[in-house]
Amino acid sequence: MTIVDVLTEFAESGGIGVLKPGASLAEVSERLGPPQDGEYFPGRRRKRGEPRNVRYGDVRLEVCCDKLLAVALSTGSGSVDLPSGVSGETEELPSAVTAAQLREAFATAGIRAEEGLWPEPADQLTLVVPRSPADVHFTFRRTDADVSGDSGTVLHSAIARGHHVCG
Ligand SMILES: [Zn+2]
Repeated sequence: MTIVDVLTEFAESGGIGVLKPGASLAEVSERLGPPQDGEYFPGRRRKRGEPRNVRYGDVRLEVCCDKLLAVALSTGSGSVDLPSGVSGETEELPSAVTAAQLREAFATAGIRAEEGLWPEPADQLTLVVPRSPADVHFTFRRTDADVSGDSGTVLHSAIARGHHVCG
């Protein structure tokens, strides 16, 4: 399993393994064990209806009403820890991937990705893969101005965030 495989599966299935928007945290926990705390400001009180942040390795989740709202993976640090599929265990993968590599993998898998239609900073590129219940956004940064096109454009993060109204 390479990071390209993980990201291609994210684009195809809308999630990372069992971690998908809309999934139940209780069911996910049965498979992967309990999540780790992922709060950015531990100890701060959450407002009513505000999702809580948990994580499995470097896969960050927003959770509300026991449902996964968002599944996010930051790849900019050079490596990522991903759930191995065995309860409580993660495995480390090198995470450097360029837009050129991901476009090629998506093309091979027959995945349609659109470029973000909103104004973006000049050093950023976003590919959006339409999925239900949540589109998957792949955001890249142009790190090397000397390399033209997608080869100098490196993935920073991948995220799928669904909509949720507390019941
Ligand atoms: Zn809720």
